[in-house]
Amino acid sequence: LDPTGEGFSHEEYDIERALRPLSFDDFTGQEQVIENLEVFVQAANGRGEALDHTLFHGPPGLGKTTLANILANELGVNIKVTSGPVLDKPGDLAGLLTNLEERDVLFIDEIHRLSPIVEEYLYSAMEDFKIDIMIESGPNARTVQITLNPFTLIGATTRSGLLTAPMRARFGISSRLQYYNTELLTTIVQRSAEILRVPIDMEAAIEIAGRSRGTPRIANALLRRVRDFAQIKGNGTIDIEIARFGLKALNVDAHGLDEMDNKILATIIDKFKGGPVGITTLATAVSESAETIEEVYEPFLIQQGFIVRTPRGREVTEAAYTHLNRVKGPIQGG
Ligand code: ADP
Repeated sequence: LDPTGEGFSHEEYDIERALRPLSFDDFTGQEQVIENLEVFVQAANGRGEALDHTLFHGPPGLGKTTLANILANELGVNIKVTSGPVLDKPGDLAGLLTNLEERDVLFIDEIHRLSPIVEEYLYSAMEDFKIDIMIESGPNARTVQITLNPFTLIGATTRSGLLTAPMRARFGISSRLQYYNTELLTTIVQRSAEILRVPIDMEAAIEIAGRSRGTPRIANALLRRVRDFAQIKGNGTIDIEIARFGLKALNVDAHGLDEMDNKILATIIDKFKGGPVGITTLATAVSESAETIEEVYEPFLIQQGFIVRTPRGREVTEAAYTHLNRVKGPIQGG
């Protein structure tokens, strides 16, 4: 069983849950987003109303699920969790919706992967808190309209570009999550280390944070692996030596770039003379979808200064050549 759908074991899933912040105060970073949400939650609580439907978008591991849970906590309501691909038929959704109590949160992860019928079914639920359900079958089959308790739909997506316009229009609140800088990730690593009860030096926390691809989930995963090295190869404390040793053994890149990040940079340099190259051409060359490159990989590479977007396509920067130990010049490639 893989409850996270991300290749984690049950134990890792439990640890991930333990590390999840539960309140606004616990949550590090995304200041602008949090400030606004605090206002909206206070206002909704004050009026005793459901919070407006809320959409979180941005790359994986930045805290979309965490924020959905925090919102439910701060609203003092229950949260039901599901995901786009799991909701096969309108009936699946009807079951969930009719069980929501007043002001509850329904969280739909990967909301861009809802089937069109389910999505359409969701529209009237979101807009008027009403759904049609089919009762009986055969010749007596008919639909009746049911009024739902006012609820909040929270959607999360890594691919906001794939959301349909009518779906997007039904969210009163929409927030894009940004990559975290090293300082924020250091705070997150220190907080997680405290929960895991492993002592960690400041320098080591910074080292792990700096190699986490701007992503709290990666920072936590690296911390857990380095903790193993500290326990077996060290004295239990994560100091800078153990952190460096562990990260090296794990093959973590100096900037925390993953295999696909590096493949994208190397391909632009080796096959396209550093660019510019169009996104579709690049996608074919690295065997990944153009949307995934645009929404998952490219934002980080741009933020880190390895790629720039020009009107003619993507170009790598000097930093990419240095990072990959390539020499800039016409003799490159094949
Ligand atoms: P997403 O839903 O965007 O893929 P998650 O909300 O599942 O990301 O976050 C992944 C993990 O990263 C969570 O288990 C949580 O522990 C951690 N995390 C995410 N954002 C933060 C944050 N701002 N502060 C502390 N931990 C965070």
